[in-house]
Amino acid sequence: MELSKRQERIIEIVKDNGPITGENIAEQLNLTRATLRPDLAILTMSGFLEARPRVGYFYTGKTGFELITEKIKKFHVQDFMQIPIVVKEEVSVYDAISTMFLEDIGTLFVVNEDSCLTGVLSRKDLLRASIGQQDLNSIAVHIIMTRMPNITVCRKEDLILDVAQKLINKQIDGLPVVKDTNAGLAVIGRVTKTTITKAFVELTKENHV
Ligand code: ADP
Repeated sequence: MELSKRQERIIEIVKDNGPITGENIAEQLNLTRATLRPDLAILTMSGFLEARPRVGYFYTGKTGFELITEKIKKFHVQDFMQIPIVVKEEVSVYDAISTMFLEDIGTLFVVNEDSCLTGVLSRKDLLRASIGQQDLNSIAVHIIMTRMPNITVCRKEDLILDVAQKLINKQIDGLPVVKDTNAGLAVIGRVTKTTITKAFVELTKENHV
């Protein structure tokens, strides 16, 4: 986050004089306490300063890099995951392509009769199947999907940062969020590159700075 000149000045004052009250900081800057309130709120919320009741403000000594890392490590899959779109194994490639367009989505998850994960279908999987002269209505998606156990998954408690690393390592666009059941892995969500982009933008919002 970018600090204003005044916010940088406040940090300097607290570094040199802390613990120091808001009143005293305001005096040193020739401003009123009320004028300073939003700046002090931002600086404490973002972790540069710590406020202790009846004592005053302290400088935490954390760098911008440490603070942003702390924020990223608070982002979990459950805070950002989106609704998964699933198809059954027997659905035709033609219908899977229609679903992909209708749902405006890049990855479909394939499930069995127990609604448990058995495969993944990406845009390119479906394009590849469409290149030949086959009748797309007569090919079931389980023939062309990437199948278990080769599916990379995540769970709702996982860190968004770890999911991002998996997407990079495996060079894929998304992961199913799964939950263990007696029948197998139930699909409860999806995390994609778009989800990671949303989390990235969230870092710049005031309540997350
Ligand atoms: P695209 O193929 O449209 O570029 P991806 O990069 O996501 O999209 O997919 C590349 C390949 O990896 C595809 O064959 C797809 O089936 C497979 N794939 C996609 N997601 C996963 C996943 N979570 N686990 C394992 N394989 C996957």
